[in-house]
Amino acid sequence: MVSSIKDIFNQLLIRSKTGLRMTFWVRSVMFDFVWYKEKAKIPPSGYLKEQVLEKENQRILLCIPHPDDEVLGCYFFLQHEAYRQKIELLYVTKGNRCATAKNYTDIAEKRMHESRNALTGLPLEAIYQWDLDDGSLKEEKAAVRDRIERHVATMNYDIILSTASEDLTPDHAALGHMIQDITPREGVKKLFYRSTWSTFGIEEADYIYTGDYRTKKRAVKSFITQSHIPLLNPILFSALECRLAHGIFQPVEIFIDSDHYTGKSRCNRKNMLHWKQAKTAL
Ligand SMILES: [Zn+2]
Repeated sequence: MVSSIKDIFNQLLIRSKTGLRMTFWVRSVMFDFVWYKEKAKIPPSGYLKEQVLEKENQRILLCIPHPDDEVLGCYFFLQHEAYRQKIELLYVTKGNRCATAKNYTDIAEKRMHESRNALTGLPLEAIYQWDLDDGSLKEEKAAVRDRIERHVATMNYDIILSTASEDLTPDHAALGHMIQDITPREGVKKLFYRSTWSTFGIEEADYIYTGDYRTKKRAVKSFITQSHIPLLNPILFSALECRLAHGIFQPVEIFIDSDHYTGKSRCNRKNMLHWKQAKTAL
């Protein structure tokens, strides 16, 4: 009963643009409350060492299934690496089939605009946006994989990033499989990142990036059209996960070499949008 009243309330709110903004504001206040409550629970007793890319000036392609995954999974990474590396973004789908698409006549442009706002100030080498519908990657897997392969063949990338192949969002998983399948030139590193599903755990990570939660929160808040989803929770999930693993409450973004990825960790298939699951993650 309680959840159905909550659902009805949420539905009413997300039917209008003002409602979406209000939803985000309410979520944001709640998020801060939980954040500081969790932070106060255990004084920092541990230490987390970032593990970042060693070499500078590498050409990196960040493959993004939907506009917002780049911020959820790679914001600290971009903050750290955009100044050291040459990073290109590839938005594989337009993100045009989200639940609030009916509120906007131009949802694809709107989401791209939100992404640009979220990444303001970060120097990026290039941005590509492909004209694919979200939700179509699984069906179009062979064609999209070939298209990625052709794109990669013309560029001299050193690193390619994507969501993992065992992700539970179909587009994310399909993209992960495509990246696993392509054969770029020798020595190209393929890394997986996490967006809303915990596809691997902090103890498996090859690279760990941290940053200030308030700046990431501000970036996530750019995605007003996605206010129906509790997009701030993955930040909290990662901080809880880090506290359990390293004794310090610190938001993290983690990356794993696709060659090391098994998709079978105990963290797999935990939805980071429900941060309470982090408490049983380890
Ligand atoms: Zn996505």
